[in-house]
Amino acid sequence: MTKRVREHKIETPKEKQNRHKAMEAISLLEKIKHDFKEPPKAMNYFYDLYERVHCRHESLHADKVKVGTMCIQVPSEIIHALDAVPLRLCNGFYTDDEIGSDLLPSKACPLVKATVGQFVSGNFSDKPDLVISPTTCDQKAKSGAIIEEMGYKLFDMEFPRTKESAESREYWRRSVRKFTKELSTDLGKKLTKKNLKESIKKVGYAQHLYHKLNILRKNENSPILGLDMFLVTNAFFFDDLDNWIKATSELLKECAQRVEDEFNTATKKSPRIVYTGSPPIFPNLKIPLLIEDSDAIIVADETCSSNRMFNDMVSVDEWFVNDMVDSVADRYLKGCTCPIFTKNNDRIRRIIDLVKEYKADGVVYQAFAGCQVYEMEQRSVLQAMEKEGIPIIYLESDYSPSHLGQLTTRIEAFIESLKNRRRKKQ
Ligand code: SF4
Ligand code: SF4
Repeated sequence: MTKRVREHKIETPKEKQNRHKAMEAISLLEKIKHDFKEPPKAMNYFYDLYERVHCRHESLHADKVKVGTMCIQVPSEIIHALDAVPLRLCNGFYTDDEIGSDLLPSKACPLVKATVGQFVSGNFSDKPDLVISPTTCDQKAKSGAIIEEMGYKLFDMEFPRTKESAESREYWRRSVRKFTKELSTDLGKKLTKKNLKESIKKVGYAQHLYHKLNILRKNENSPILGLDMFLVTNAFFFDDLDNWIKATSELLKECAQRVEDEFNTATKKSPRIVYTGSPPIFPNLKIPLLIEDSDAIIVADETCSSNRMFNDMVSVDEWFVNDMVDSVADRYLKGCTCPIFTKNNDRIRRIIDLVKEYKADGVVYQAFAGCQVYEMEQRSVLQAMEKEGIPIIYLESDYSPSHLGQLTTRIEAFIESLKNRRRKKQ
């Protein structure tokens, strides 16, 4: 009699990492889909997109050159114009954060550790062919060098640490011109008046859709969760631009209908929140999840993984290549409110404007443990909010699933205080 031997497939470390990442992705998506009031049907495109990329490891850009960008400051208009795909490498996976911890100090920013960790494991569904690293924050700049040591082709892009002066504007313009020239040479593609104009218009149209969607969030009835909005904006990091535009147009139509129907994804009592601080990046949406799980609704944000990506549009005086490149550069410097700048009054102004425009009850300021600039800037932001009479809570967090109890207690207490404040006002 032949013995039947049961085969046990031994999981490779890469398969194990991928399985852990898929679990992180699915667990968040399931909560968003099922723990809240009926999501817009158009969100199914985005839920499916995350599953395709993070669970089924489907490549979205197999036939294109992929340009990895280490920060929001890399102009995507120029990459698109050169017929390549920008892929923002800022990463929110705890699995990758743990892998990156072997190379970086344990106190480093989790976003940076996760970004480096993904390069160590190589678990990309679309692997970048080259990487652009702007010298924005110190940790980003140093991690760029580590990635280069791993054998990746990397271009540094010098970024100024002040933004008000004519010198910093000129310095950044030169940097963008140099990046454009080097990328064009490397890809063997010419930047023309036609391709750059088309690309500026297409990215501008995506920004326009985002703005229209945001205007609907000013309504007293919230047509969409803040969590869903983070999924939409985070998808802009890696999705095909035409597909993103199509899906966002559908979502916009549906949300407009919801406003007309007075559909509210929250309740009348739910405090309205403006979110600011270190960027929430899929699947590390734990603070937004705790906020919306505690009966509040995020109506606007000031973060570089969402609102800041779409803020200012390129404003062109002359449609000549050099003028367009300079106009693209200006949009990225002027619109940036990252605390890497010496002075950052624009950020405070923007948060106050958002609170007023979106009739928010309070602000949640979250900083990643290890991100010194966001940690240091909290003092000036808290003082400014206090002066304006805007309630604000400051939270420090990382990517680990621990400390959830403490965070939940603090967030629930803050939201309760906002509800009480509202009651007293009535
Ligand atoms: S937090 Fe600042 S440095 Fe980091 S990705 Fe965002 S804009 Fe860039
Ligand atoms: S959160 Fe802080 S340390 Fe991390 S990338 Fe942004 S600025 Fe740099």
